[in-house]
Amino acid sequence: MRDETWLYQLLDDTWDGHFPDVPQDNIVKITFGRRAKSRLGSIKVDLRQPDVSVITLNGLFRDQRVPELVVKATLVHELCHYAHGFNSPIVQKFRHPHAGGVMRAEFRERGLEQLYLDQRRWLKDNWRGMVEHSFGAPAVRRMRVRKAVKVPRPFWFIG
Ligand SMILES: [Zn+2]
Repeated sequence: MRDETWLYQLLDDTWDGHFPDVPQDNIVKITFGRRAKSRLGSIKVDLRQPDVSVITLNGLFRDQRVPELVVKATLVHELCHYAHGFNSPIVQKFRHPHAGGVMRAEFRERGLEQLYLDQRRWLKDNWRGMVEHSFGAPAVRRMRVRKAVKVPRPFWFIG
């Protein structure tokens, strides 16, 4: 079952396995947020609690149809932000959190490029179906319209 215990176990395993060089000098919390069509995850520091970083993952990730690799890759994405000094006590390494190619490069350096590619592949093949199953077909049609009007980028994003 994907509950809070499961999430914290995933956080611990991922940090120990792939981010042992990154000091954790504040409290890091992880939680499922609301179910969302396009936002897969985020990392934030609450202004009222500056010593706490909160990683929030899309509530749809509770669903077993979303492979664990997709949940893990989203978590890795947020931990890369943490390592780069965004919403963490670490000194900020870049001006922008998604500056050209830094995310994929960070996955690669941590031996996780295949995870990066596998997540993208799964999202391309299955995310529309997940959204349709969870929100209904009109929600998917609205996504298509927005995609046609705006830039041709993936219809999901990871904050
Ligand atoms: Zn991001």
